[in-house]
Amino acid sequence: MNEKTMSSKLVIPRGTKFRKINLSRKAARCPRCNQISKRHSLGRRLLREVGISGPTVLEVTYSKHYCEHCQKHFSLPMDHLALPSGRFTNRVRKTAVELVIKQALTLEKAAQRMRLKYYVHIPPTTLHDWVVAELTSV
Ligand SMILES: [Zn+2]
Repeated sequence: MNEKTMSSKLVIPRGTKFRKINLSRKAARCPRCNQISKRHSLGRRLLREVGISGPTVLEVTYSKHYCEHCQKHFSLPMDHLALPSGRFTNRVRKTAVELVIKQALTLEKAAQRMRLKYYVHIPPTTLHDWVVAELTSV
């Protein structure tokens, strides 16, 4: 209801705010051989972000590069923003995990708090995985 799907992965509620971030660069060093490699195309990634006054999505533009030496494509990592294949920002993950670990909320309560206060819907299985990962990381 009242939702449109912009990609197969992310359902965007009506009234969602988009914050754009452009991480694109004309050239970057290949992670394998360190050679400067030109940009060959742009990618776009949508991440659910902590909302202050409504649902918020981070729209990240990034560059894809081609290393002629290795003959391989690569994209610059954005670990500071999100896990490699994640659909949520690190801020969402940390905020939700803290509710469970520091404030001792149940997974259900934490998910509800994230929904009501920060406008982010997190599947219980996803939140469960985050908490386990946090507890088992050293
Ligand atoms: Zn290379």
